[in-house]
Amino acid sequence: MSSPARWALWTSARPRWVVFVLASEAIAIGVTVASLLAEPGTGHDLRWFPILLVMGIAQAEMSRRIERVRRWMGGQTHINVTSVWYLAGVVLLSPGWAVVLAAALYLHLWFRVWRHVRTRPAHRVVASTAWAMLSCWGAAFVLHITGLGGLAGTPAAGIRGSAVVLVAALVFELVNLVGAAAGIYLYTEQRSLTDLVGTWGDNALELVTLCLGGLTATALVYQPILVLMIYPPLLLLHRHVLIKQLEAAVATDEKTGLFNNAGWHHIASRELDRAKRSSGTLAIFMVDIDHFKKINDTYGHLAGDAVLKAVAATINRSVRDYDSVGRFGGEEFVVLLPDIATPDVGEVAERVRHAVTQLAVPLGDDSLTTIKGLSVSVGTAIYPTAGTALDRLIHVADTALLHAKRSGRNRVSHADGDITAAETNGRTQVGIRSLGA
Ligand code: GH3
Ligand code: MG
Ligand code: MG
Repeated sequence: MSSPARWALWTSARPRWVVFVLASEAIAIGVTVASLLAEPGTGHDLRWFPILLVMGIAQAEMSRRIERVRRWMGGQTHINVTSVWYLAGVVLLSPGWAVVLAAALYLHLWFRVWRHVRTRPAHRVVASTAWAMLSCWGAAFVLHITGLGGLAGTPAAGIRGSAVVLVAALVFELVNLVGAAAGIYLYTEQRSLTDLVGTWGDNALELVTLCLGGLTATALVYQPILVLMIYPPLLLLHRHVLIKQLEAAVATDEKTGLFNNAGWHHIASRELDRAKRSSGTLAIFMVDIDHFKKINDTYGHLAGDAVLKAVAATINRSVRDYDSVGRFGGEEFVVLLPDIATPDVGEVAERVRHAVTQLAVPLGDDSLTTIKGLSVSVGTAIYPTAGTALDRLIHVADTALLHAKRSGRNRVSHADGDITAAETNGRTQVGIRSLGA
């Protein structure tokens, strides 16, 4: 490992994220040490800690390949299947030992899997470890102040036992969610709720993990041998998390993080069906960067890629959360805007166009030199005026885009799609009856 002064933490992350992570780590470690000094451990800790540690490591070893593929694929998922073990730890161990268990399982995963994966830099692993530790703390603290306590040492505990497990799982999930959302916000400045807290599907999976954690603890106390039955669903769950990530990757453009062609088409067909059923509206924009080839030729392809990413992010920011932006290929983007009032279409397209003109894209690491003066041309088409089939709408928007290019670029063109007559002689671009810039 390189010397601390050369850690990627200082250069690749925003200062306020670094402060947030260092503060989280300091609190997590500080409270753990203080608690272990005050209460070094009980007989229950001696009994359950090694069992949970060995079971957690065994599970991580069994699913090492799945985990490696998951992490290698990147993405922002914050689901960690090992939380099964430290949630069980929260209800069975003294708080300090539950937190040590979380840290030990993270450390093991880092050694065995994550350190081999470039998409998972060490400082981000340390950040998520700190938040796993704090989530254990939050859950243990609430169990303590509500007087519920833990499961260990109690006879079949009935309602109290169930309450312990439920409260621990909910508080754990809540603290974890807040930590992940704050971390992602400070790291990437994403603002959409889905980016910050994950999808319903992500959270459902997290909840399944916690349910298994609760069942693990209960089984360990009341029917220890049955705890082996946790492994098959757990390994299957891990596989399912990977499948969810693969599904997302199949629909995502790697370079820009937008939908790729197939992903965008899938969403667009669904939204178009919905618009048809509800007699709603929908707009499509085709957006093409002007004179992009010149950027590649002047500054090189890496700078071209940086411009592509910046324009993609700008288009995404200029539209609503539930609009879908895709990369069609090269330097061409497509936007789907469901439920948009026709008079707003021009305004939104203009907002996208204007936002790109304001961009200053840093060249390489030297943020003093920037590429400015970028622009895009935009063609729009509205359902149902311009057509009722997706291919037709795309074709009409593309034709409008061509018109915008021919009229001088850096502008928006609208088409109402009355191009049937012109299509018959193969000259669709001149056949649009109502085309306005
Ligand atoms: P116009 O204003 O008419 O759209 O001109 P243009 O130069 O933007 O369009 P043209 O189609 O001539 O050039 C597009 C260029 O985009 C050519 C291609 O090499 C480049 N390109 C396509 N995909 C990528 C990519 O992923 N990265 C980079 N850096 N360049 C790309
Ligand atoms: Mg172009
Ligand atoms: Mg193009």
